[in-house]
Amino acid sequence: SKKLIENGKYCLEILHDHGFEAFFVGGCVRDQLIGRDIKDIDIATNALPHEVKALFAITVDIGIEHGTVLVLVNDIPIEITTYRQEEEYLLHRRPASVHFVQNLSFDLMRRDFTMNAIAMSKNGDLIDPYKGEEDIKDLLIRAVGNPFERFSEDALRMLRGIRFTSTLGFELEETTMSAIRSNRCLLQHISVERITKELSSFFMGSYVKHGWKFLKESKIAECFPIPLDVIPPIIEQLSFASSIEGWSYLYQEHNEAGNVPIKFKFSKQEAKEYRILSTLLSVRKERVFRELDVFNQQLSHILFAERFATTHDEISWTERKRDIEEMYHHLPIKQSSELAVNGSDLLLWSERKPGPWMKNALRMLEEKVVSGVIENTKQAIKDEFLHEGTD
Ligand code: ATP
Ligand code: MG
Repeated sequence: SKKLIENGKYCLEILHDHGFEAFFVGGCVRDQLIGRDIKDIDIATNALPHEVKALFAITVDIGIEHGTVLVLVNDIPIEITTYRQEEEYLLHRRPASVHFVQNLSFDLMRRDFTMNAIAMSKNGDLIDPYKGEEDIKDLLIRAVGNPFERFSEDALRMLRGIRFTSTLGFELEETTMSAIRSNRCLLQHISVERITKELSSFFMGSYVKHGWKFLKESKIAECFPIPLDVIPPIIEQLSFASSIEGWSYLYQEHNEAGNVPIKFKFSKQEAKEYRILSTLLSVRKERVFRELDVFNQQLSHILFAERFATTHDEISWTERKRDIEEMYHHLPIKQSSELAVNGSDLLLWSERKPGPWMKNALRMLEEKVVSGVIENTKQAIKDEFLHEGTD
């Protein structure tokens, strides 16, 4: 974090030395004022993109048509964006074209929330025309200007606002919140990729339980690519170890839940995790987990389903977690390779030819060992096998 800021300051100096204005802006200023770790550095300047490029040895044109040049300083990427104004908004999305301006105040005006519309000089002085610092102190997310207009210009801002409730633990200021509720269905103009990205960060936020209240009250989920009229309740232990856990919890009751990975364009890996978690949730709603479930599935997946499929609060989560962990601990075997017999034993005992039957028989014996029907010893398994075979 410190190293990031040092390198950012170096960029500001270079720009100043060549007669340009330059400030830290956006998330890095906000997070510094909050006291959170800074993820990346954004700089705003009146230098034009080609002027920025001329000043730094290594640059990448990541969004040059929007005025953004990525500069690498000591291998650290820093985004330098020319002051700009966004004029026309097409179909409730951010404009395809922007125009560059010489005045910082226009650049701050286009930003979404007051906490994100603060500029900071190299010496730490703030340019804060919308009183973002005060809102940060009050833990408030407030739109810059008229929230109804701002969300109508760019509907993604609403979801960013909801996402910040979860990542920062802030409240949405009242008018900003009611503008989200009124404009929620403009979200339909936003691409699925961007919605997925925001929601995934929402699920991973440290304050997701707090954020869930705003997700619910804004009713914005009614306008998701797979619409949700009712969202699952805020439970005691609402927090997710992966964004996919969040997706599985959100869509558990939905009859189109199976389409979630396709609709939201999950990666193969994510889709796989989603299917496992959703299945475990529905299994857990039918019955309690047994040894065999704990043997077959990753412990973290079992614990997820244990936590989210049930709401019975008589037994505390800590106790239920401990019970599952104990069940795992006491499994006679933790993986197939620990079974006391193998295929050759079966061949010897049965005097049959090798074939697919062996795999099935091993699987059946393994299940009996795991669920405690027989002991994991050669003798016990042999007895069971020969007994089953003569049935
Ligand atoms: P994060 O911590 O997620 O990076 P951030 O606020 O830095 O949060 P970015 O997407 O990196 O978010 O955007 C950088 C800045 O650009 C924001 O702080 C905000 O000032 C501005 N911004 C981003 N998206 C929008 C938008 N849709 N409308 C208006 N301003 C935006
Ligand atoms: Mg950022």
